[in-house]
Amino acid sequence: MSARTTIEWTDTTWNPVTGCTEVSEGCDHCYAKTLAERFRGTPGHYFENGFDVQLRPDKLAEPLRWRKPRRVFVNSMSDLFHDDVPDAFIARVFAVMARCSQHTFQILTKRHGRMRSLLSAPHFAELVTTWAWRDGVRPFTPMVQLPVPNVWLGVSVEDQKWANIRIPALLDTPAAVRFLSCEPLLGPIVLPETKAIDWLIVGGESGRGARPVHPDWVRGLRDQCAAANVLYFFKQWGEWAPESVCATERGARGALYIERDGATRPAAFGARGQAVTIQRNGKHRTGRLLDGFTYEAYPCSEHGGRVEWNPTADTWLPGTVIAHDGPLLRIRIDDNQQVFIVDPRDTRPLAEVSA
Ligand code: SF4
Repeated sequence: MSARTTIEWTDTTWNPVTGCTEVSEGCDHCYAKTLAERFRGTPGHYFENGFDVQLRPDKLAEPLRWRKPRRVFVNSMSDLFHDDVPDAFIARVFAVMARCSQHTFQILTKRHGRMRSLLSAPHFAELVTTWAWRDGVRPFTPMVQLPVPNVWLGVSVEDQKWANIRIPALLDTPAAVRFLSCEPLLGPIVLPETKAIDWLIVGGESGRGARPVHPDWVRGLRDQCAAANVLYFFKQWGEWAPESVCATERGARGALYIERDGATRPAAFGARGQAVTIQRNGKHRTGRLLDGFTYEAYPCSEHGGRVEWNPTADTWLPGTVIAHDGPLLRIRIDDNQQVFIVDPRDTRPLAEVSA
């Protein structure tokens, strides 16, 4: 499986492995499992074996054929560091990525322990080099160096418990760019460490049985990113969104109150405390506007270099304060041309505002 994708933060998916098993609460409504299991037992179908882990060596060479540079989400239908994927196969995947310097590969895992131990192992770079030569049509570089510069490594972080476990493991793993995917976001998160994190993606859950997200969890992560110079990408509200974002008559009938701790109750019972009213209107209606803005920042492949920034606003200049159907944003660009949103309520000259 490789395809143009609707996943907002990438261009293409590449699946040299398919199938997986659940590891944490974020897996409860795994879209990949739902998709693959639908075809279990269908003779001749690509997913005849459902969501069982399957290596797909015939897919390995796909990125080598893509000339135009792309962001490539590796294993959208699996987890590369699953126990059933041999070290040698992971090395083959890395060998292809190392040979495709025109692309940016995004690897996201919930198996932070194996990722850390394997990528830190001295023999792994040799194994990658061996496979780069074996699978290659011509001799490749004498030795692949880790971290591979065009490979971004990320961990899924759905709540505080997994933030405390997976983030330190990610920081302990050699990587050119490190990112977090807080999707589905299941609770408030205080990031235990931000210094070496480059990018954070946030999203609510979509699909059947989706759990709602409290807007303050999403804002809380945005504000921590702004304070720590971490690039922030708001992917989606998911099935549920605050009434202020999306309201329909149908959604109003099943509206809920959600508290900051995630507790919910039917809105018909009356408001209590600081609850926010949310409606279930589906991912395509709820969209991805947060306080009137689309947050869509990406790291650049060359770590520490320019960032790409595609906001839904007309002018983005350093120091600009922009109103866009919501609170103001203020832009700061540092010496490395990194773009940050700084607290718009801070009225000091921009140079004095620490990003
Ligand atoms: S780790 Fe990812 S692919 Fe595997 S079951 Fe969990 S959500 Fe699905």
